[in-house]
Amino acid sequence: MCGIVGVVGNKNATDILMQGLEKLEYRGYDSAGIYVVNGQKTNLVKSVGRIADLRTKLGIDIAGTAGIGHTRWATHGKPSEINAHPHQSETARFTLVHNGVIENFAEIKSDYLAGHNLKGQTDTEITVHLIGKFAEEDGLSVLEAFRKALSIIEGSYAFALMDAKDADTIYVAKNKSPLLIGLGDGYNMVCSDAMAMIRETSEYMEIHDKELVIVKADSVQVQDYAGNAIERGSYTAELDLSDIGKGTYPYYMLKEIDEQPTVMRKLISAYTDDAGKITVDADIIKAVQDADRIYIIAAGTSYHAGFASKDFLEQLTDTPVELGIASEWGYNQPLLSQKPLFIFISQSGETADSRQVLVRANKMGIPSLTVTNVPGSTLSREANYTMLLHAGPEIAVASTKAYTAQIATLAVLAKAVGDANGNSKAADFDLVHELSIVAQSIEASLSEKDMIEAKVADLLATSRNAFYIGRGTDYYVAMEASLKLKEISYIQCEGFAAGELKHGTISLIEDGVPVIALISNNKTLAAHTRGNIQEVAARGASVLTVVDEATAREEDDIKVRTVHPYLSSIAMVVPTQLVAYYATLQRGLDVDKPRNLAKSVTVE
Ligand code: GLU
Repeated sequence: MCGIVGVVGNKNATDILMQGLEKLEYRGYDSAGIYVVNGQKTNLVKSVGRIADLRTKLGIDIAGTAGIGHTRWATHGKPSEINAHPHQSETARFTLVHNGVIENFAEIKSDYLAGHNLKGQTDTEITVHLIGKFAEEDGLSVLEAFRKALSIIEGSYAFALMDAKDADTIYVAKNKSPLLIGLGDGYNMVCSDAMAMIRETSEYMEIHDKELVIVKADSVQVQDYAGNAIERGSYTAELDLSDIGKGTYPYYMLKEIDEQPTVMRKLISAYTDDAGKITVDADIIKAVQDADRIYIIAAGTSYHAGFASKDFLEQLTDTPVELGIASEWGYNQPLLSQKPLFIFISQSGETADSRQVLVRANKMGIPSLTVTNVPGSTLSREANYTMLLHAGPEIAVASTKAYTAQIATLAVLAKAVGDANGNSKAADFDLVHELSIVAQSIEASLSEKDMIEAKVADLLATSRNAFYIGRGTDYYVAMEASLKLKEISYIQCEGFAAGELKHGTISLIEDGVPVIALISNNKTLAAHTRGNIQEVAARGASVLTVVDEATAREEDDIKVRTVHPYLSSIAMVVPTQLVAYYATLQRGLDVDKPRNLAKSVTVE
């Protein structure tokens, strides 16, 4: 969701900004723009649509030594060229890009900006007019004007600000929205996501909430909002440029689906000691042992991964597990147990909805663990403990390998705690062996792509709606499978507990409605789900069955190699990822960049 990149120093700013924005494309956006300064000459170019559209609007002579760029995911004002960032102050002296939402923008407009000529509808434009007013009408220095504006602005933001009168400086500030500094030799950068800087540098500096940073070619000064200097060291990030290429794949999503067996094996090696035994940081094990209840807080696919992990976490750690939707918990936190442990699951580690719960948990002194793919991300820094997914960058908006890695990582945690507690089920659960069987099962499903593609063409080519049904963990997989299908193919799909359908929703079943049934290794549940299949088939549904080999019958459509029941969600979800992928391709849609969606949801 929305991205910022800025650079100042001895580099071609236009190239760096455009390459950076291309690297941010995966996050989802609707318009983009850059502002580049070359001595006295300034250039502002904006465009609706893709970065490629912006590129076609750049004149050949746009070059400079400093600039800021932005991909916008509209929150206030429709996607349009006028509302695209960067925005400028009344006299165009100040130029600003912004990620986030200014909550009191309407008050700012009426209290301070009478007579100002605002061109668009964004909260951001009002902010840069405010800074311009303080500097140009009230005579404050740039820093004073920025600080004064920051003292008035409420909401979430990452800002990068430039002053046409001093093109050698980028001023940045943040609150709740991600922003990082990248350090180079003779140049420095600012960016909302390290991904956009990894071509230029691997040396980064964090910015904390409510800090203002003055970035020049050869210096970076961090201050609090009162102007006190703050010492901040840098760190080297482990990102690998080759990880973010698409290789020969037509889409990142397919590449990431295919990477899942490798991710399972990487997880095994990341979480085993020299003797081949599962190992997790002793402090994390103790945090689980000390808790009387685990609360998993997450959103979207990560929330579904939480559900898929609930049963084995409870069985192996002997601790009840509750799930919370992050955006709900921000304002409606239920009564907690005496000794809660919060586990945040977030691919990006930047999910704003989860972060607001974490900020409150920290105030309340509740211990927390973040399970994320991104080391150094906000949720990782701010929680007490982190477990990494080791899945490599996930670029496609629709999450696949992160979901399966989240379940596997939580299985590692459950097993490690169970072993430490002497839990007998944990002793019988050879996770290293079971995860390698999971990797083989995924490989077997991936080898059936042509067959799955053909079945999808028969079932989903023209349908407007569909259902996934399942019981037990298959129900949780049904939730995730239907989200995946909705996200990218725009087929309206519901994931249902198979037995619940007849309590109302079966009224939607009519001739030809696709119902995909998930059945994995529990004979009783399988028998009941097969009964539910009969019920929908009797009402005209077109049924596709996805069944594990131990439970499958001859006539089942897609057979999944059987894995340990604790890990069946990982094996069962893979065919459903391919169903979503092929349904989207067959409809001629962009698999990696679905409309309206952002990869990393950094607004509440
Ligand atoms: N709220 C701002 C807008 O709608 C920024 C959105 C973003 O973060 O991209 O323009």
